[in-house]
Amino acid sequence: MLIENVRKKFIKLFKEEPLLVRSPGRVNLIGEHTDYNLGFVLPAAIDNAIYYAISPRNDNNCKLYSVDLDEDFNFEVDDLKYSEKRWPNYLMGVVDQLNKTGIRISGFNCVFGGDIPLGAGLSSSAAIGAGLAFSLNHIFNLGIDKLSLVKLAQKSENEFAGVNCGIMDQFVNIFGAEGRVLKIDCRSFEYEYHPLANDELRIVLCNTMVTHSLADSEYNRRRAQCESGVQTLQQYNPEIKSLRDVPLEHLFSHKSNLDETIFRRCKYVIEENERVTNACSDLEKKDFDSFGQRMYESHRGLRDEYEVSCPELDFMAEEALYSDEVIGARMMGGGFGGCTINLVYESNVKKFKSFIEKAYKKKYNKKPPVYICRIEGGTQIIS
Ligand code: ADP
Ligand code: MG
Repeated sequence: MLIENVRKKFIKLFKEEPLLVRSPGRVNLIGEHTDYNLGFVLPAAIDNAIYYAISPRNDNNCKLYSVDLDEDFNFEVDDLKYSEKRWPNYLMGVVDQLNKTGIRISGFNCVFGGDIPLGAGLSSSAAIGAGLAFSLNHIFNLGIDKLSLVKLAQKSENEFAGVNCGIMDQFVNIFGAEGRVLKIDCRSFEYEYHPLANDELRIVLCNTMVTHSLADSEYNRRRAQCESGVQTLQQYNPEIKSLRDVPLEHLFSHKSNLDETIFRRCKYVIEENERVTNACSDLEKKDFDSFGQRMYESHRGLRDEYEVSCPELDFMAEEALYSDEVIGARMMGGGFGGCTINLVYESNVKKFKSFIEKAYKKKYNKKPPVYICRIEGGTQIIS
């Protein structure tokens, strides 16, 4: 057991019984590139997780140990410096945010490790940051509410680790619930739950194992293109502050005022927001076929209109749909690599896994890692 490993290591190093906390990875079922357009996303926390063993100290020292990397790192609460080791920054960033907010804590002992694949798009980084924020809030009795923890963890990744991430990952890490997806309004931070029960369905992630170097520059370019679309559309309706505010008819009626590429980018985002809302109605009706159809429409939009897919992702998603085992499939995350997300009946999971492994191996001559996930709760204390 992962958690037992983490606990034993902690006791060996620090000779006391720690608090144990589980902090999950996440998937996003639908709603891609909608977060920075202040629209909707539909993530869920999964069973892959980081486990924390942690306890407060009486001095200013913070002693960290990463089980997975077999590395330790020490720092003092009031002396934080960016580390070339990279991983400590996700943790120091949290302490940095507490300092900036004027919340004083003493040092702590901390051992952590888990089974979220690193850098695969399941947000291991947010699991680390938000998991530590949650743990420190508990052991030091800081009384920080959940939404403030989310914002603090997001800012810590932005400012200390230097990653320009949105709020989705930390949000679902803290607010996730077993057997339910979370619809988040990325403007108001209102949220609602919809059922996607674990008894019959699994979420299967297929890792293309590629990361095309375009990812960062194209991401920034998409953001700029959406902003440019908003600026043009605003001239005809000053109420428009983001693509979130644009009805599809409004976009079409100003098609001739927009550059052809900008038009397609905006169309994708507006339709994707609608898909998220409609996908939630599908879940309430248990209409998984319709839900799966929307996942594929999302993929098509990302491929043809938003143009952030790549041949490997297209292959993975299309193969999945040719097989009879999959309800819906699409690329997940920013694009240009990473995983596809597939919704699969539990009874079909084994067959699908071996099908997709074979197909990918035949085409690209490498066996892709496949992760089979259930929807679990957000970060919580394990007694
Ligand atoms: P993602 O969040 O998609 O998994 P990122 O690149 O944002 O990918 O974050 C991955 C980084 O987070 C790793 O390079 C490492 O620094 C840190 N990290 C993630 N999981 C662990 C872990 N189990 N132990 C130590 N560091 C980790
Ligand atoms: Mg990350």
